[in-house]
Amino acid sequence: MNKNPYEVLGVARDASDADIKKAYHKLVMKYHPDKNPGDKSAEEKFKEVNNAFDILKDPQKRAAYDRFGDAAFAGGNGASAGTGNPFGAGFGGFAGGAGMDDILREAMRGFGFDGFGGFGGERGAAQQRGRDLLDTVTISLRDAYFGITHTVKFSSNVTCDKCDGHGTDDGKTAPACSRCGGSGVVHTRQGFFAVETPCPECNGLGRKISKKCSKCDGTGTVHKQRTLDVKIPAGVDDGARLRLAGQGEAGQNGAPAGDFYIDVHVAADDKFERMGDDLILRADVPFATLALGGEIEIETLDDKKLDVKIAAGTQIGSRLRVRGHGMPNARRSGSFGDLYVEITMSVPTKLTEKQKKALADFADTKSNKKSGWF
Ligand SMILES: [Zn+2]
Ligand SMILES: [Zn+2]
Repeated sequence: MNKNPYEVLGVARDASDADIKKAYHKLVMKYHPDKNPGDKSAEEKFKEVNNAFDILKDPQKRAAYDRFGDAAFAGGNGASAGTGNPFGAGFGGFAGGAGMDDILREAMRGFGFDGFGGFGGERGAAQQRGRDLLDTVTISLRDAYFGITHTVKFSSNVTCDKCDGHGTDDGKTAPACSRCGGSGVVHTRQGFFAVETPCPECNGLGRKISKKCSKCDGTGTVHKQRTLDVKIPAGVDDGARLRLAGQGEAGQNGAPAGDFYIDVHVAADDKFERMGDDLILRADVPFATLALGGEIEIETLDDKKLDVKIAAGTQIGSRLRVRGHGMPNARRSGSFGDLYVEITMSVPTKLTEKQKKALADFADTKSNKKSGWF
């Protein structure tokens, strides 16, 4: 059996290749038989150093040692083979931007071992956390203002209620598999390497179910039509991602369920423009009101009527701030942004004779000629 190669070379577990090489060269010089003629312990050390370097210089062997320890090299010499460890990777979550169709498709696919180099499609890694699910919803700005409950209907794997996820006929935990001792894996030797493969006796479950639950056929999960009421908070931002912990697919063998995510999109409004928590509303104001000053009535996003004072000489494009009438802040309850009324002006198309004369008189007034209004 090899000694721990890291200890033999006196390097850290995360030592770089350069450090390993340096340590090796130093030790190999020290224990070289030419320098230590007849010294048995030096000869032994020399072998150890070479064995250790043999493992750590090779990325594959080093990784195998890190993963399996001595077991990987118990065979001594032989072919170098990659180890296909089917349990290495965790689930990579959900695909970004997936719609409901994608969720259903994902759900239908069940618990595959996507991206694993292991046993294709076979059900059964022990303690597999349930898959995350993702839905997307688009709401109006008004719904974002008040908050809304969004109902999602979908189907996914849920824990079997008949056996409580144990997959057994009596609903109790099945006894540990005698072949693998409950680990779900067995180690076989392939030349130089010990390879971890799912236990053929229990298909990697680690438990041996003698009588399967009739409802879930021993899988511990059943496919079910589900409805979730998702509360979308007032003031939600466009692009916000909400997480409902534990509402994804059921986990395997009592493992925790995945999460359910909702991506919220807030549609553009044709009256109000949103800038963070603030809102911008464009208001048509008559020229006379802008010039002389006055008041206009506006309707806020929450359907309130507000009088906004217009100062004499207000310019087109200026923004009047109405405090606290913007969007609610989703993170600070009771906090609101501001509403900015952006002044625009409509040019009248139908004028009475009297109005025409008044405007003509106004245009004729010398002091106003330079201002360029008309
Ligand atoms: Zn087993
Ligand atoms: Zn069941």
